[in-house]
Amino acid sequence: MDQPDPFGFVGLTYDDVMLLPAHTDVIPSEAETASQLTRRIRVNAPLLSSAMDTVTEARMAIAMARQGGLGVLHRNLSIDDQAEQVDKVKRSESGMITNPVTTTPDATVAEVDALCGRFRVSGLPVVEGDGTLVGIITNRDMRFVSAFEAPTTLVRDVMTAAPLVTGPVGISQDDVLALFAQHKIEKLPLVDDAGRLSGLITVKDFDKSEKYPNATKDAAGRLRVGAAIGFFGDAWDRAGALRDAGVDAIVVDTANGDSRGVLEIIARLKADPAFAEVDVIGGNVASRSGAQALIDAGADAVKVGVGPGSICTTRVVAGVGVPQVTAVYEASLAARPAGVPLIADGGLQYSGDIAKALVAGADTVMLGSLLAGTDESPGDLIFVNGKQFKSYRGMGSLGALQTRGTKTSYSRDRYFQVDVPSDEQLIAEGIEGQVPYRGPVGSVVYQLLGGLRQSMFYTGARTIDELKQRGKFVRITAAGLKESHPHDIQMVVEAPNYRR
Ligand code: 5GP
Repeated sequence: MDQPDPFGFVGLTYDDVMLLPAHTDVIPSEAETASQLTRRIRVNAPLLSSAMDTVTEARMAIAMARQGGLGVLHRNLSIDDQAEQVDKVKRSESGMITNPVTTTPDATVAEVDALCGRFRVSGLPVVEGDGTLVGIITNRDMRFVSAFEAPTTLVRDVMTAAPLVTGPVGISQDDVLALFAQHKIEKLPLVDDAGRLSGLITVKDFDKSEKYPNATKDAAGRLRVGAAIGFFGDAWDRAGALRDAGVDAIVVDTANGDSRGVLEIIARLKADPAFAEVDVIGGNVASRSGAQALIDAGADAVKVGVGPGSICTTRVVAGVGVPQVTAVYEASLAARPAGVPLIADGGLQYSGDIAKALVAGADTVMLGSLLAGTDESPGDLIFVNGKQFKSYRGMGSLGALQTRGTKTSYSRDRYFQVDVPSDEQLIAEGIEGQVPYRGPVGSVVYQLLGGLRQSMFYTGARTIDELKQRGKFVRITAAGLKESHPHDIQMVVEAPNYRR
């Protein structure tokens, strides 16, 4: 061991520290929670959902982006399936859909129905040949076609045929609204000079923009989304497919980011002009040198966390890790001078942990267990003794790593175990379990952001930057932690932001 003072280096985590109250003239509702996610992407809520198969698929990513955060799509699925998830998010809400799902006059109503269900839309433009718009088919046109007739009824026989009300590309929002109102329509196809379909605007997207004013959106008004890749095998092809589907940030997602394969793929992505529009996040690390290595490779943000996760067993299986507040602080010593944002990934149990992570040096936090119990996470509700739960498992758990016969596990390289010959020989670094059902993501995020605003009020911080500058820690003892939680009382009513 070549370490000058091995036991003088103390690692602290969320439960070891509290933030000091300070003079304030900020009220919680005035606090601004916007923060930097990557070098180029800013979010109104500093919250990400974990790239885990029990946390983030398209539905969660849409919900997180609407709330002002970001979802990172997990990678335990085929390249095509993951790219389709990106596509779903990018199409979900936008000023203009640049590449709308379409049908043709010779398709059947049953086929249109299936497409509408798959993409959760209520109608499709009908195109012919080189994309010439010849009609539109919506619920209104299909209402009187019975399920029995649908497989044999052609689109051309029921669609609303051209001439349609259309707009030119680049039409202003005011003009669009005027057309919706004047013609009582809900979908406006955009066409070029030759009459070819070049976009679609729907009234639903206008409603959603009003409903979710803090949404995380790209320059074209589409929700932003992140997606995880590994570094092994077809990771490069996966990155390309995600980019083609419109992903905003690629997360090179591994349990040990300070490793050759990870650094190489980050450097390769950053050097390739084909990925110029996509930000690259690297991780995970838990030290200053690890963060520096990712920064030197070109990462646009660094993700921190080795072993803090609620489902994670790395620290007991391998005996390796750094308590999360210290890990974030150490990484920030490299990230702050470089101007690279940090993501504190895993281990958050309460809303108060968000401010602690930010003061320690993070710019955003990534959440698994706090979001796994929501409506928008994959998986069904589980009833146990009349109580509702949802399943939640580590991506290094046996269940996530196993190939189960024909199904491939795509997450093995997260734990550097692609060469393990059989499922029996896997070394798990996570567990499988269930978390209490928590209702819609919107309410959970509301409570988390509300908690963060209270932190900002107590510390006198109007912005996240001010919080990071003004925030100061006190280290607490086991007695202090006991005092912090409700004590000497039997809780009879569960608070929406407190569970034990
Ligand atoms: P949580 O918010 O539940 O405390 O932590 C979620 C984080 O744990 C994820 O974002 C991811 O970084 C990490 N993680 C997910 N699955 C596993 C696992 O099986 N093992 C380990 N070591 N970490 C995991």
